[in-house]
Amino acid sequence: MPESPSFIIHWFRRDLRVSDNSSLLAASHKGEKVVPLYVASDWKKAHAWTGPGRQQFLCECLESLAGNLAKLGGRLIIRSGDPVEAIVRLLDEGSVSEVHYNRDPDPHGRKDELRLAEICEARGVACVGHDDVALHTFDQTTKDDGTAYRVYTPYSKRWLKLEKRKPASTPKQLATPDQIASDPLPTLENWQLNLPSHLDLLSGSEAAARSRLKDAIAKRLPSYAQNRDHPSVPATSRLSQDLRWGTISIRKAYAEAHKAHEEARDPDVRASYHTFIKELAWRDFYLHLLEAYPEVLQHEFNADYRGLPWAEPDEKFEAWKEGHTGFPIVDAGMRELRTTGFMHNRVRMIVAMFLTKDLHLDWRLGEQHFAQHLLDGEIASNNGGWQWSAGTGADAAPYFRIQNPWTQSKRFDAKGEYIKKWVPELDAVPAKALHEAPDLVSGHGKSYPQPIVNHAQERDKTLSIFKKHLDTVRGKA
Ligand SMILES: Cc1cc2nc3c(=O)[nH]c(=O)nc-3n(C[C@H](O)[C@H](O)[C@H](O)COP(=O)(O)OP(=O)(O)OC[C@H]3O[C@@H](n4cnc5c(N)ncnc54)[C@H](O)[C@@H]3O)c2cc1C
Repeated sequence: MPESPSFIIHWFRRDLRVSDNSSLLAASHKGEKVVPLYVASDWKKAHAWTGPGRQQFLCECLESLAGNLAKLGGRLIIRSGDPVEAIVRLLDEGSVSEVHYNRDPDPHGRKDELRLAEICEARGVACVGHDDVALHTFDQTTKDDGTAYRVYTPYSKRWLKLEKRKPASTPKQLATPDQIASDPLPTLENWQLNLPSHLDLLSGSEAAARSRLKDAIAKRLPSYAQNRDHPSVPATSRLSQDLRWGTISIRKAYAEAHKAHEEARDPDVRASYHTFIKELAWRDFYLHLLEAYPEVLQHEFNADYRGLPWAEPDEKFEAWKEGHTGFPIVDAGMRELRTTGFMHNRVRMIVAMFLTKDLHLDWRLGEQHFAQHLLDGEIASNNGGWQWSAGTGADAAPYFRIQNPWTQSKRFDAKGEYIKKWVPELDAVPAKALHEAPDLVSGHGKSYPQPIVNHAQERDKTLSIFKKHLDTVRGKA
């Protein structure tokens, strides 16, 4: 009988890289063989919170990860199903002294960690969670009284003052026991999905992420402060999917931006890198909120807004999803999402406010649609972004400050370059008319729908719904 191997497990989750991976590095330092494990989910055909684009991106990340581990002498082990059960089965395949993983602040991930810790304890196996996903842990960024922040500005002030961990190295080598079998790398067939032909996605790998970071630091971010709100200008980093899946570490992204900030001589460029760093703090802030208030996944963060009377989804919701609302900036954003699995941040805010304030639809519908389509779909930031836009979240836009989609597009896409890229049937329409609905319907862009609602009327309706609700909640009605 072949001898049963002894090894340490590193469980890959949202950290699909070999460089600066806190858990993988710790496991590799033990001087034992390492089983680098990824457990693929086993749902079929459709999933409420992910779709073919995201799964395709995941498959590419895993393929590249397998190659990177092989270069170190290791072997990516793929299993499928419930991750804790898969790890328990692996514990039975050899003599395992330790299981390492990077901690996940989301409640689903934390539930798995607790289950795993109990099982490991009962079996005398060390179960070691590492801090990796955020620049700062929850404990480092609480208020002085130990409670969580609810507002971004004081949180970010504290966050900015804290010393940041430097990126760590890549393991020099890894060995994985030959006896441990792996499933093949997953493809879309695992989930019985097909890749729609209209998709045009970024590629997923550690190398692609590094190259995006390099490009961002050199070319995109120097004008971040001035241009980041203009969707036609390539002035944001495009790193969100890499930070989501962990093909780049948050420490590496921060370290490169910080170095560029320190080296910049031009004050505008310096300010741009600083503004970018503050956006990384938003990412940590939403992770912080989710850790402290996991109930936001079900409820409005601000309890006053629970029970708002949202409308029933109808054909207008379908028009929003398809990018056929007759509001050019909204349609451009929704079509960019459908094609690339990405949407510019400014446009995310516009389409989210449109769904909640012009169509009066529940932000949870939009949150789920985004999660299905965004390559960067991330539970904390997505929930935070939606609740912010709906006016129900932490530090949210007050409900009465309703963005006007026409004014927004005039302000942030004055020449209509972004709109025309994603809504080509408006190509011949003069830029000015793109921001004024009546001009559009009088003769231009014939194949393009008329606006499905009147913004001014829907705005008034929203104000009255929210006010009535608040009066009832606060006992004034
Ligand atoms: C309704 C809505 C939903 C969103 N859903 C997601 C999501 O699922 N996943 C996601 O990563 N971001 C989400 N965001 C935040 C933001 O839109 C994206 O992070 C950003 O557009 C990604 O592009 P970028 O990498 O070029 O960003 P950059 O502007 O270059 O920012 C750098 C990084 O900082 C982080 N970041 C920037 N802005 C925010 C923000 N407002 N909140 C949290 N983190 C931020 C991201 O990790 C981003 O990659 C959402 C925003 C809104 C309004």
